[in-house]
Amino acid sequence: MDRVDGVVIGAGVVGLAVARKLAQAGREVIVLEEAEAIGTVTSSRNSEVIHAGIYYRAGSWMARMCVAGKHALYRYCAERGIPHKNCGKLIVATSPKETEKLQSIKAHAEANGVLDMQLLSGEAARALEPALACDAALLSPSTGIIDSHAYMLSLRGEAEDAGAAFAFHTPLIRAKAANSMIEIDAGGESPMTLQCRLFVNAAGLSATHVARNIDGMPLDRIPPAYLAKGNYFSCNAKAPFSRLIYPVPEPGGLGVHLTLDMAGQARFGPDVEWIETIDYEVDPSRAERFYPAIRKYWPTLPDGALMPSYSGIRPKIVPPAVATQDFLMQGPQDHGVAGLINLFGIESPGLTSSLAIADHVAELANI
Ligand SMILES: Cc1cc2nc3c(=O)[nH]c(=O)nc-3n(C[C@H](O)[C@H](O)[C@H](O)COP(=O)(O)OP(=O)(O)OC[C@H]3O[C@@H](n4cnc5c(N)ncnc54)[C@H](O)[C@@H]3O)c2cc1C
Repeated sequence: MDRVDGVVIGAGVVGLAVARKLAQAGREVIVLEEAEAIGTVTSSRNSEVIHAGIYYRAGSWMARMCVAGKHALYRYCAERGIPHKNCGKLIVATSPKETEKLQSIKAHAEANGVLDMQLLSGEAARALEPALACDAALLSPSTGIIDSHAYMLSLRGEAEDAGAAFAFHTPLIRAKAANSMIEIDAGGESPMTLQCRLFVNAAGLSATHVARNIDGMPLDRIPPAYLAKGNYFSCNAKAPFSRLIYPVPEPGGLGVHLTLDMAGQARFGPDVEWIETIDYEVDPSRAERFYPAIRKYWPTLPDGALMPSYSGIRPKIVPPAVATQDFLMQGPQDHGVAGLINLFGIESPGLTSSLAIADHVAELANI
């Protein structure tokens, strides 16, 4: 049986960042990916926003990884010329009740280490974005957008330069932990068996399924899995905004927000639709809920402008009744299996956090 130092399951943005980190630390690494290429699942079905770290519970992994990851990601992109834009975002209050909430959002952000938020009057916000309807707003200057595919290509290139190997069309079938080693059976086009000392489960939506197929992994340490789809609508009218526009969040979600891609094209969403099985189809009738929500801050959105676009699915590990979840990153001290690291529930801000998550995995692996 072949032996390698480390195996990473999944070549999404997180698996890629982890593979790069391990390879650059001198570990021999192989990435097993069941799809034909990198980043074909959740990593290419998101908003491509570099989040500031405003809303997450203070002290949570999401808050810590997002703020550390954001700084690392801006540095990474600047040093390598990865297309990105530090365009900023406005959180807009469209009623006096919402205006009251802006101060507490600012305080919450500050507790997370986001210290650059600015409260703006309605006029000051309109001086930045003349088409905006709002009573007041909160500017987040450190929010941005990124060409996530260019970022992933760069991570892959650097991982390979440091010696990492990639096996595509190669699903992990099962693994077995024994004597401080993990034995792996992979299927697909070129089935293989491997032995490794470090096994990183970065399988995204399938992370809980992968964990269940590891003989020796205690089942009571594996969280439940739920799916929360986020639907996007594109806009066939030119949106007159150069920053991302978010309503004041409501219980259960961030509200229908406007993000921009690197070409300046606006998209709205994602909303939240709990589903039982994976299905990326966008139901056009959901647009009916988008129009009134968007018109609160962009009253002149033309009728018929919204077109169903794409969707992504959040790997939830808490049910709908639980408002928030956190990243669940388990090392041997959490489940007792030597050399095994599980990354569960890596929903947003997983892209922003990817470099920080890779650093944390290295710590869990004592690298
Ligand atoms: C709607 C939506 C919007 C989002 N917006 C943002 C945003 O704006 N900013 C942000 O920071 N984050 C955002 N996120 C979160 C971000 O997209 C994810 O956290 C990130 O992409 C997760 O990357 P990953 O590598 O963990 O998972 P994935 O990208 O899903 O990669 C997992 C990989 O594992 C592979 N795999 C699965 N099972 C196996 C197996 N058995 N064997 C081999 N390979 C396997 C899959 O094929 C896949 O390639 C958003 C998420 C969603 C759903």
